[in-house]
Amino acid sequence: MIILENLSKEYDDVTAVRNLSMEIPDGEIFGLIGPNGAGKTTLLRICCGLLEPTAGRVLINGIDVRGNTAAAQSEIGYLSDFFSVYDDLKVWEYLDYFARAYQLTPAEIKARVAEVISDIGLETKRDAMIRGLSRGMKQRLGIGRAILHRPKVLLLDEPASGLDPQARIDLRILLKKLRDGGATVVVSSHILPDLEAFSTSIGVMERGVMLRSGRVNTLRDEVEGAGTRTIEIAWLGPASHVKRFLADREISVEAIGDREGAFPFSADDDELSTLLADMVAAGIRLTGFHETMQTVEELYVKLSQGQVM
Ligand code: ATP
Repeated sequence: MIILENLSKEYDDVTAVRNLSMEIPDGEIFGLIGPNGAGKTTLLRICCGLLEPTAGRVLINGIDVRGNTAAAQSEIGYLSDFFSVYDDLKVWEYLDYFARAYQLTPAEIKARVAEVISDIGLETKRDAMIRGLSRGMKQRLGIGRAILHRPKVLLLDEPASGLDPQARIDLRILLKKLRDGGATVVVSSHILPDLEAFSTSIGVMERGVMLRSGRVNTLRDEVEGAGTRTIEIAWLGPASHVKRFLADREISVEAIGDREGAFPFSADDDELSTLLADMVAAGIRLTGFHETMQTVEELYVKLSQGQVM
């Protein structure tokens, strides 16, 4: 678990993190969202002990990062937003080097390096020199380095930057696998559809303040109103028929168009199924009927205040 207590960071003339307190429970994949300069990188660097906070503290699995940096760091895998790799090493040598630095036992290093190379999809580049890798491949290697020592907490700053579509899909699968293995993951990203695919919770940060954070579904309920669902429909034939049908049941027709539309619905699946059957029985020629959910992008737009530092 990650606990932030009254955390602040001031640079010369900028407050990058303002009195931030929150908890990220075990097993979450927490998506950190915010405009450029929101304080995301600063926050992640404080969490892994690379930056001293001006005030407050971070606990990683109960360990105070400031007082016990080395112990906390043994629990953390960190991928920086900009990092360099050693060009003159082969892929396997780079990971082997860090496996030794992380003090994996000699007996397990070979197998672990092979496992990580497979996890990051670089099997065919195992013996390639790093200088010849593409940007996205170097990014994958950075992720590989961050997970080598099986950290319980992963802090990834813009891990999808530079990755091709397949690598982004692979990253989603890898993050879910790490979570299934018990890791807690914090990912900062501007690629909201990616966060949508793997985040269990999100935090919206602006000007050093965490405006809102929590489980994605809880935030959806807050934005939409708990228990309110949105049903999208499409049909053939006159819209007047559809509007009359819904209005008779006191369902809002505000967003019902000529051929398609949406309406709010506040009951369970049983009643939704009955409504669908009744629409068909009433002669409405439905071509679409499904529930939609707010995307993380829509949530972000609603939760953020659009302020840029
Ligand atoms: P981005 O999405 O662009 O990566 P971010 O959310 O990660 O942005 P930070 O890099 O944490 O934001 O920066 C937060 C604020 O702190 C910005 O105003 C930035 O200019 C400032 N800042 C960051 N690092 C320093 C530094 N070393 N010295 C002075 N100011 C800094």
